[in-house]
Amino acid sequence: MAQPPAVRDKDWDYLPSAQTAEMVSIDDRYGLYIDGKFRAPRSRRYQETINPATEEPIARVAEAGARDVDLAVSAARTAFAGEWGRMGGGERAKYLFRIARMLQERSREFAVLETIDGGKPIKEARDIDLPLAAAHFFYYAGWADKLEYAFAGVKPEPLGVAGQVIPWNFPMLMLAWKVAPALAAGNTVVLKPAETTPLTALLFASLTAEAGLPPGVLNIVTGAGRTGAAVVEHPGVDKVAFTGSTAVGKGIQRALAGTGKKLTLELGGKGAHVIFDDAPIDQAVEGVINGIFFNQGHVCCAGSRLFVQENIHDHFLDKLRNRLGTLRVGDPLDKNTDIGAINSAEQLQRIEGLVSAGLEEGAELYQPDCALPARGFYFRPTLFTGVAQSHRIAQEEIFGPVLSVMSFRTPAEAVEKANNTPYGLSAGVWTTKGSRILWMADRLRAGVVWANTYNKFDPASPFGGYRESGFGREGGRHGLAAYLKGPWS
Ligand code: NAP
Ligand code: MG
Repeated sequence: MAQPPAVRDKDWDYLPSAQTAEMVSIDDRYGLYIDGKFRAPRSRRYQETINPATEEPIARVAEAGARDVDLAVSAARTAFAGEWGRMGGGERAKYLFRIARMLQERSREFAVLETIDGGKPIKEARDIDLPLAAAHFFYYAGWADKLEYAFAGVKPEPLGVAGQVIPWNFPMLMLAWKVAPALAAGNTVVLKPAETTPLTALLFASLTAEAGLPPGVLNIVTGAGRTGAAVVEHPGVDKVAFTGSTAVGKGIQRALAGTGKKLTLELGGKGAHVIFDDAPIDQAVEGVINGIFFNQGHVCCAGSRLFVQENIHDHFLDKLRNRLGTLRVGDPLDKNTDIGAINSAEQLQRIEGLVSAGLEEGAELYQPDCALPARGFYFRPTLFTGVAQSHRIAQEEIFGPVLSVMSFRTPAEAVEKANNTPYGLSAGVWTTKGSRILWMADRLRAGVVWANTYNKFDPASPFGGYRESGFGREGGRHGLAAYLKGPWS
């Protein structure tokens, strides 16, 4: 029988599959969302947000100064003392359910805006960020009228005004993690989104207005680090929830010491992904790819350190390199794109700096030969072998599509190496042996340990770290406790 003609790779290239942006309307300029209205900033300052995939400016966004933050906190205090503070949980739940449903209905619009402002692939914004954000609102809506059953013997009382500061890697999802439990518990909110990704938070503000949420219950103050500092340090704020870098988190903890404000910190990570020789290899390769290349590696719980058992190391690495070559890097609005744009020029520089350090320290770099768009911020999926525990690429959070590979021989050695980090946020284990999963999970010092999967999220499941990854939990009942008075606070 005649052999079929050899298939050339380009025959299997995907054609472009552009997501239209026609459902998104973006203003030239945005004010601050305070007390139920968009207002020009008293600071009179604006900053630009750009599309990192093209470097084109998208809109000018207000930069809130101290006076603006003060107005937002006053609005939140007034709302807390007013109708919202007196409202029963069942009524609050109605608003949260309504917000959740509206987010679902307008999910594609939010996803496209998220991709334009932040650079993440549309298929991830569409299939992960937005569905999970809506799920958080549904989940906490369900708790709002059942708070007295959430914690035995505890009379549920909100803390007051929550000041929340979030990063740029999952703008809507981090907003949902923070806003949904705060409102379900009866608090009011002043939230500051990241400087490079403010637009979905502003769209969300207008959605809550349409949902009829009383003025002042949610206030959005855009700006940069200084605005964030003004929010967390404002004396009218009772609780601070921060997600971001460990360095800024430490500064916030110092600034709040002795103030009596409640604090939760969700900080950086350097997750260990451990592959045993009995693991289902092809699934594990996919798990590793998802663990480090999802969202360009801008993921606090990314599996950025890979530990492969020595006897399968070379075989596993062959498969991994091969898979890297099939990742599609480029236009985030193309539905086939796996790796979109790096969020900012600054972040790209940070990644490049740490990759250079890896080379200087003697690790061996592998990158597939893929073309990158001429404009915009992009970085090839990258794999380092020959990495030593002491290398900066094994110790520091890169927050980009860069994987540092090491090996181990015994489970005890895997644990020792995986725990050799100042962080403690996440880890992954791949093995077919159930008892080994439990043995490892018991010893890995990380807030989350995934087994034979990675990056799985559910609103009912608490998430958070310890050591330099922070403290406090978001998600589940634990996430609710952070917004209520109780023996834990
Ligand atoms: P970042 O610089 O700490 O910024 C986080 C947020 O804090 C931004 O809104 C930022 O504003 C603001 N900010 C900056 N300086 C501040 C200050 N002195 N006081 C108060 N707020 C301030 O972090 P990033 O580099 O944007 O975000 C990436 C980091 O977040 C990574 O380390 C990652 O691991 C971590 N992260 C953790 C989790 C988690 O759940 N553990 C989740 C996601 C991300 P500007 O953006 O305007 O500078
Ligand atoms: Mg932007």
